[in-house]
Amino acid sequence: MGLCDINEIRDILGRHGFQFSKSLGQNFLTAQWVPERIAAECGADKDSGVVEIGPGMGCLTAELSKVAQRVAAVELDRALFPVLAETLADCPNVEVVHGDVLKTDLAALAQEKLGGLPAHACANLPYYITTPAISALLDCGAFRSVTVMVQREVAHRVCAQAGTSDYSAFSIYVQYHAHAEILFDVPADCFVPRPKVDSAVLRLVPRDKPAVEVADEKLFFAIVRAAFNQRRKVLSNAAAPAFGGRLDKSALTALITSCGLDERVRGERLTLQNFADLTNAAVKALG
Ligand code: SAM
Repeated sequence: MGLCDINEIRDILGRHGFQFSKSLGQNFLTAQWVPERIAAECGADKDSGVVEIGPGMGCLTAELSKVAQRVAAVELDRALFPVLAETLADCPNVEVVHGDVLKTDLAALAQEKLGGLPAHACANLPYYITTPAISALLDCGAFRSVTVMVQREVAHRVCAQAGTSDYSAFSIYVQYHAHAEILFDVPADCFVPRPKVDSAVLRLVPRDKPAVEVADEKLFFAIVRAAFNQRRKVLSNAAAPAFGGRLDKSALTALITSCGLDERVRGERLTLQNFADLTNAAVKALG
């Protein structure tokens, strides 16, 4: 049975009376090479397990079951359970779990369902939760790698470097915690229903320790968020809210220049190291 074959998809879903839900981000793959490539490149092997988010009708799940020892797939839509029971009938190493990825303790789930095996995460993520789902997958600290399909523009935002228009607070958050790379693009016509935008597969490999050393992580991210909240403003104005009135404009300008940066620089030009230097200088100055 071809789980990406459009006639097969229509037949199975029709027999189960399944209707696609736009609000659950249900765009199923219709190109078999995509789940095959994700399974081949996600890093899973017979000595490891995979947590999959959103199996849909199971095309990626079935490919993951071939490369990994065990697969636990978390699906929110109960209407897909009878479909998955049929499509994954020949995959005894797969367990489908009902749940919302954003409300699930992913570390506990990986531990319980994968029996202590090294764990990887994989997903064709529903669009409406792309960034919180990536954050949850990284923050839980349970995965050796996180391989996710997301909108192409999000993939470019995640991997963007300082000074580019795609560079954002989310680029810095992900790159602080993980090595990020785009594996390949997936055109919109590889899905049913066809989404409006193209996708890309992103691989994140969590770092042993953060990319840069900061004396106060909360302040680091507060500065990053403030800098990008008003990205057209110079940093000495934009970053002020991060200090809650504890540094006036001239003190902040002095800190910025003490880090070797131009006093008129905008936050979007700062590398992770620049933001770390600024945070560490601020921690020193504030005592
Ligand atoms: N993996 C399938 C594929 O590639 O064809 C389906 C991917 S589809 C883009 C996203 C899947 O995530 C759907 O099955 C949807 O029901 C499920 N989903 C949506 N929100 C979810 C959530 N909060 N937690 C878990 N699964 C969710």
